[in-house]
Amino acid sequence: MATTPSTTALRREAKRPARRAPAPVPELTAGEDATSIGAAREAAKGCHRCQLWRNATQTVFGEGPENADVIFVGEQPGDQEDLAGKPFVGPAGRIFDSILDDAEIDRRKVYVTNAVKHFKFEPRGKRRIHSKPNAGEIQACRWWLDKELSLIKPNLVVALGATAAQSLLGKAVPITRMRGDVIEREDGLRVFVTVHPSFILRIREQEEKEAERERFLKDMRKVKQLMGA
Ligand code: SF4
Repeated sequence: MATTPSTTALRREAKRPARRAPAPVPELTAGEDATSIGAAREAAKGCHRCQLWRNATQTVFGEGPENADVIFVGEQPGDQEDLAGKPFVGPAGRIFDSILDDAEIDRRKVYVTNAVKHFKFEPRGKRRIHSKPNAGEIQACRWWLDKELSLIKPNLVVALGATAAQSLLGKAVPITRMRGDVIEREDGLRVFVTVHPSFILRIREQEEKEAERERFLKDMRKVKQLMGA
């Protein structure tokens, strides 16, 4: 049988503060109101969207002019990038710089970043061995890449390797088959697909290494043409 609440119970209920929606988790909203790359970079320093911040030294955000025509997207920071807090400063970054130079692309005029902004590694003795980010980590960090894309509004994006292509295109793509292709996303953004420069470093045989460098240079010359298109 239904009972009528007593006057005391009704008074108690009236005094209770109104229920509020739960407060947003700060690390999931950090950067939402960022209207510049500098503000987004600052907000990303405290990002906890996935677990990779736990073991890395710091967030390695993208770098370059905010009005860049092209954004190069790598996989994730390496050991040296993690320590320096800057993207593309390790061995792969150096070979990337020298090839951009040969292709007459001014590195100071392009924006470089990574699909995942914390270094993922496995400790082996004193060394930290690079470990590939998984689909969940790529998806979590895509929020920051999307932020960079929306602020810079580039004319072209270059996906350097499988992780970058997966983040930019929203699915895994076969890099060897699609290398050199330009894919237009639904939002109209053109994505040029190629390998990551670290691929060249991993080749042991000198002749093969030089041939791969030439192929990458050819890709970068194509990028240079597309930048002006
Ligand atoms: S890898 Fe990306 S999503 Fe994950 S904690 Fe770092 S900045 Fe955040």
